[in-house]
Order: sequence, then structure tokens, then C-alpha cells
Amino acid sequence: MRDEHAFTKVAYFYHRKDADSFFQFSQDFRRLLALQPSEVLPLNLNYQDLLSQHLKALYPSHDPSHVPDMRDHLRVEIEPSQFDEEYPEQLAEKGYGAYPYFLWKEYGITQLYYLFLGIWRDHGPQSLDRWIALGQTLLDSVYAYDWPSSVFQAAEPCPICLQTMVWTKTTVCGHVFHVHCLTNHVLRHSNTCPLWRCPRPMVDDDD
Ligand SMILES: [Zn+2]
Ligand SMILES: [Zn+2]
Repeated sequence: MRDEHAFTKVAYFYHRKDADSFFQFSQDFRRLLALQPSEVLPLNLNYQDLLSQHLKALYPSHDPSHVPDMRDHLRVEIEPSQFDEEYPEQLAEKGYGAYPYFLWKEYGITQLYYLFLGIWRDHGPQSLDRWIALGQTLLDSVYAYDWPSSVFQAAEPCPICLQTMVWTKTTVCGHVFHVHCLTNHVLRHSNTCPLWRCPRPMVDDDD
């Protein structure tokens, strides 16, 4: 996985005098891999501000563009089946938040490894507690995203393409499909529900 590759790369390229303490710290840093989302995620929290504060505590003269950011990976609303590899789809099939967790491992921790290496180069040893606070905030920002609630339940396959659904649309007749599969069906085939043929299944969009 990408997070493990990032770690190996970080370790491989480090050749300084403080290599021993660097390797010790980078081993400890792997505690971030065990983080779990907080049980309570406050609404309307500005995670980017919070991440910036944590980073400032680690690295006072930080460049604002270095603040880790998961928004791009979330905003595009990618379905797990759209990745080249098969394991995102396999993970998403587990449901119960497995897909957000995959995104955190794949894109969140990776950003933290590179950030950690950059800050170590300039400033040397750092507080692991602060890194954990930063990682926890980044992980929580993934879970606090406006996911459809189905992501946190048992995963359901889309009746059209049979792949796991993350981004869903419920028809007026109460059937659930991938947003893009249903839109495609309505635009290219017929403006009826693919299961029951009820007319204008997305009619609530016209309101
Ligand atoms: Zn589908
Ligand atoms: Zn229907």
C-alpha cells in the first residue's frame, strides 16, 4: 500500500549523522498507522484551521501550502471501482467505514510521512504527541466529510453495475443506485427506475 511505500522511501533516503534517532523516531511514527477515527466528530469544525494550528506547533515557520489536505481526495467523489487496483473495491465491500479508512491510509498517512521527512530535515527531532494530534485531526477530517450514511453500514452493490456503492442516489420509488449509473440510465436509456420502471425516478431533483 502507498503508506508503506512512503515509509520505506523515507527510511531509504536518510543518510545523516542523526540517522539513529531518525530511525527510532520513524519507527515510533508508525503509531499513526494504528489511529482510529474519534468517536465523536463535532459538526462544523474547520479541520483545515485545526491542521494548520497543529502544524504550526510542530514547525512554527511552516509554509501554509504544507498543511496536509484530504479535500481533493474526497471532493472528487471517486467510487472504489474506479481505482486501477482491485483492493479499494474489496475494502469498500466490507462497508462500515472501510472506504474512508482506505482513503486515509492511501492519501492521508502518505502526506504525513513526506511532511515529517521535510520537517525533520530542517528542524530535527519532533514531538510524537504533536504528530499524533495532527494525524488524528487529518483522519477525523476524512470521516467528518459529508459521506452518504450508507458508507458506514453494510456495503450494498449497485443493482446496475453490481459494484459496491459509495456515492448513491435514492429514487422516488425508494431504490438505491450509484449516482452515475442512475444518471446514465436516465439520460441514455429511459427516464424510468431500472428496477420497477417507475416514471421519472429522479423527479425530486427537478424541485
Ligand atoms: Zn453502479
Ligand atoms: Zn424503483
